Amino acid sequence: MSATIQSIEAILVDIPTIRPHKLSMTTMGVQTMVIVRIKDSSGLEGLGEATTIGGLAYGPESPESVKLTIDTYFRPQLIGQPSDNRNTLRVMLNRSTRGNNLAKSAIETALLDLQGKRLNCPVSDLLGGAVHSHIPVLWTLASGDTAKDIEESLSLIETGRHCDFKLKIGSRALMDDVRNVAAIKAAVGETASVRVDVNQAWDEATAARGMAELQAAGIDLVEQPTPMKDYAALVRLSQKFYLPILADEAVADASELYSLAAAGFSGAVALKIAKAGGPARALEQAAVAQAAGIGLYGGTLLEGTIGTVSALHAWSTLDTLRWGTEMFGPLLMKDDIVIKPLNFHDNGVDLPEGPGLGIDIDEDKLAFYRRKA
Ligand SMILES: [Mg+2]
Repeated sequence: MSATIQSIEAILVDIPTIRPHKLSMTTMGVQTMVIVRIKDSSGLEGLGEATTIGGLAYGPESPESVKLTIDTYFRPQLIGQPSDNRNTLRVMLNRSTRGNNLAKSAIETALLDLQGKRLNCPVSDLLGGAVHSHIPVLWTLASGDTAKDIEESLSLIETGRHCDFKLKIGSRALMDDVRNVAAIKAAVGETASVRVDVNQAWDEATAARGMAELQAAGIDLVEQPTPMKDYAALVRLSQKFYLPILADEAVADASELYSLAAAGFSGAVALKIAKAGGPARALEQAAVAQAAGIGLYGGTLLEGTIGTVSALHAWSTLDTLRWGTEMFGPLLMKDDIVIKPLNFHDNGVDLPEGPGLGIDIDEDKLAFYRRKA
């Protein structure tokens, strides 16, 4: 018999990052997560998380607005509803609330965790079953200092924690960025993959020049070089260079990816549970990508462990992740609010075992890091 939803709590949690994380639109020193706890009438609890990058610097939802959306709009609709019928709950929330995919992603994750605990199976089983239990994870170099980035990448290669790297560029003059990226690529060598994320900072002409330079420097992938709405530029650039483009901000969900693919885009797509509105929604986007011959990449909004694990359960069900993942969010934070942190090793991470997400909250840590009124 299905249980009904009894309570929903959305908690703001602030954890400092291990170093300043420089992006084209902001520099992060702290990561704010919205942790969602849904309890049902059988006494079980589902955990979810919504997290974004730099307050409102990345997109239109902030951690504070996610909490408000859940507290004010979602909670009154969801309380008393059967917790197992995620489709009905999703249709209800989509009818009453446009957008707000971060908040919807946290709710979908918590409902999946709850259902997994009820049925005593992992979330990946609810999504069709895991094909992989160890998932590749790259590291993002974003100190802003070439020598520091080289030192960081070489030590990560040596310990076997990561062998692929992504650089956040776009805030400096083009050739300064190119020199920095080329120096790092030369230092890490042939076997390490180096990619860049421009986070929409270039216009098309700058992107064309940048891609020519980066292609010559041996860079493997250029993420979102131009503004998110400019599909025509992404299509033209993807047809001009053999260096592939990774579409990120441009495509939040399955229908946006369909439009971009139909316009003639080739390359890769960053799947993100937060953009799509949950892990199941992100897998719909993956299906469109696979049909269009677009390579898959597991993306992050630098979620903590709960959001990261939700995404890992989804990515584990995909046969081929051509470009791996960037699910390193927990490693960027100085501390964690779960009892057993993820195990990062051999250039990837293990999918947690156990029912639901396979994650337990450390109540003392949560109390310490939760935002005080
Ligand atoms: Mg990106």
